[in-house]
Amino acid sequence: MARGASIKSEVVAAQDLTGKRAIVTGASSGIGRATARALAEAGVRVAGGARRVERLETEIALELDVTEQDSCARFVAAAIEQLGGLDILVNNAGLALGRAPFDESSEEDEATVFGVNVAGLVRMTRLCLPHFGDWGHIVNMGSVAGRVAYEGGATYVAAKFAERGFTYALREDLLGRPIRITTVDPGLTETEFSLVRFKGDEEKAAAVYRGVDPLHPEDIAECIVFALTRPWHVNVDEIVVKARNQASGARIIRDQ
Ligand code: NAP
Repeated sequence: MARGASIKSEVVAAQDLTGKRAIVTGASSGIGRATARALAEAGVRVAGGARRVERLETEIALELDVTEQDSCARFVAAAIEQLGGLDILVNNAGLALGRAPFDESSEEDEATVFGVNVAGLVRMTRLCLPHFGDWGHIVNMGSVAGRVAYEGGATYVAAKFAERGFTYALREDLLGRPIRITTVDPGLTETEFSLVRFKGDEEKAAAVYRGVDPLHPEDIAECIVFALTRPWHVNVDEIVVKARNQASGARIIRDQ
């Protein structure tokens, strides 16, 4: 037998997402909004959720606060009813608060950061799981902060480490079921993230993106679509994507 003759050489076709049904949390801004748009362009029917419901552009637009059990239950019931089922869950809603040493942290900020990034994501996953059929994919929004710690980001770093731990634990628990699971871990992406982190301080927020060509929300949406469209036997476990001039959460080379 010729060397390599037993290796299958045909390329298996990418998945067509036309007609699939998706929930995207945090679809009112940034990465979530870009992802909802990219999914709609790929023929996916999207139910978007966020607190600022008036900013949602999705076919189905519903109020959602992932920190509230009742809000999540109401959102999932209404989204599933209007979509008629579920194929894709993008757990994107998230935030950081502050960029100071941990001594300056507050009970309130800690509760919000863990409540949105961790408890909200876990809750939405639990509520959505029963609605998947024979083709499912969960995409969780991680971060480079969930891979390597950086100074002044303790609660966000801890929350995103938790997200990655949960993603891999869920992968274990779902093994054998027709649900794929991916964590997408972006670096510096220009969105409202920094404005939220610095509690509305526009100057501090703008400085985060100054002198560096950051990622755009569309770059992350493209990564998500890549994972979703892989042939069905392929599970992309994680995608780590950074700006070219960024090596880690804290190490960024800026133009002078
Ligand atoms: P963004 O522009 O501030 O968007 C955050 C989204 O999360 C908004 O749609 C917001 O909607 C939603 N959200 C916040 N709290 C919520 C809650 N309690 N319930 C429901 N939705 C809530 O920031 P982004 O950069 O696109 O962030 C999206 C995700 O990417 C987050 O998980 C973030 O940690 C992650 N990420 C961002 C970066 C970055 O550099 N930008 C890097 C790595 C990872 P409402 O305010 O309308 O509720």
